Amino acid sequence: MIARQIETALSRAQVICKRRGARLTPVRRRVLELILSSDQPTGAYALLGELQRGRGKLGPPTVYRALEFLLAHKLIHKVETSSAFIACADIEHPHESQFMICDDCGATEELRDEEIVESLRRLGERRGFAVERQVVEARGLCPACRSAQR
Ligand SMILES: [Zn+2]
Ligand SMILES: [Zn+2]
Repeated sequence: MIARQIETALSRAQVICKRRGARLTPVRRRVLELILSSDQPTGAYALLGELQRGRGKLGPPTVYRALEFLLAHKLIHKVETSSAFIACADIEHPHESQFMICDDCGATEELRDEEIVESLRRLGERRGFAVERQVVEARGLCPACRSAQR
């Protein structure tokens, strides 16, 4: 993301937090900024390294707490199969999402397919199971890596 888009995304996040009576503290804001600036999902330790560069000694709990906050407010998503975090593409509308992750370059695309969400919910319902969280991640090769292989 380019600097101007990052600024816009950050101020939108600020507005959403304010509306909910939550505080986007400087550390939380910085973690979000780092995630927004990265083209690919970022792991907690990479984030910690970046944070320490600007602010000196900060422990892992600081990063984990910031990530928990950002996840709770759906400003970011966790990509489970990469154990990494990605900025949400549409923070105004909380949603379930799915991901397509390239095994070669790590490019990760967020999808929002209501059919998948509904279908899992229905499958659960039929079994008397209440689906509360869905993790749907497809791994494979992205278009760029596929054409590079040809
Ligand atoms: Zn999202
Ligand atoms: Zn790729």
